[in-house]
Amino acid sequence: MAAASLLSSCAGSDATRPASGHRGPVRAPSPQGRQAAEHARLVAAAERWGLKRVPLTPPPPPAEKPEITARAGFEVSHQEDWDLPPVFTTIPTKRKIVFLTIDDGSEKDPRFLKMMQDLKIPYTAFLSDYLVKDDYGYFRRMQSYGHTLDNHTLHHPYLPGLSYEDQKHEICGMQDIMKKQFGKRPTVFRPPYGNYNQDTLRAAKACGIKYAPIWNEEVYVDHWEYREDDQKMRRGDIVLTHFRGRSDWDGTMIDDMRRFLNKITREGYAVARLEDYL
Ligand SMILES: [Zn+2]
Repeated sequence: MAAASLLSSCAGSDATRPASGHRGPVRAPSPQGRQAAEHARLVAAAERWGLKRVPLTPPPPPAEKPEITARAGFEVSHQEDWDLPPVFTTIPTKRKIVFLTIDDGSEKDPRFLKMMQDLKIPYTAFLSDYLVKDDYGYFRRMQSYGHTLDNHTLHHPYLPGLSYEDQKHEICGMQDIMKKQFGKRPTVFRPPYGNYNQDTLRAAKACGIKYAPIWNEEVYVDHWEYREDDQKMRRGDIVLTHFRGRSDWDGTMIDDMRRFLNKITREGYAVARLEDYL
């Protein structure tokens, strides 16, 4: 329910509101009326959070999921014949959407949860246990709002420097923690720093991982970094930012999200949910 409501178009979102409080028979508002009311709510939320424009609503999830393969140059040997999880930076789509992914987990700002709820922005969190274990409850709340939690290892090591067995421990160990704390083993894993070798993908597969997305842009509180030489965003790009606050950089998660949302909205992109395309 939470996941569905998060992504529902303007017209559908009234269904998530409690029906209590009505006195006597109330005629259901027309779809247009609901849409207008939801749009007004979003306009107010955007203003409240200091955005320059109202974030765009993403299209509904695709009826048919795109085929995801390793990005050219990002494959390892035996990528295809051993059916190893693909590493990719962009989802193949013609839609004007990007995917927001947020890593690590040190900053646990309750206002960030509220902001993304108010604005209905979906995102995927890649968690590293050593940073989240002091407050699993924060991430459980995030999950209850419909966001997906994925694997980012136990201790955030440089994986290619470890043996196959040690890499497997980092990935499978985090799968166990996630099952215990959040109820399921993810099928999506991101190697720390985006660094991996063939052992990483073999270990990830052995731990139940099917996809290893990295990113095509990284957002910081004060600048963007692009992977592509032309320094441009593309349809379907996976965007990375981090759970960081004033102790890590010169601003809050709210400032970071404001920068992200203002830019993508200005360029005509909506934020879609990564798992809808995997
Ligand atoms: Zn990380």
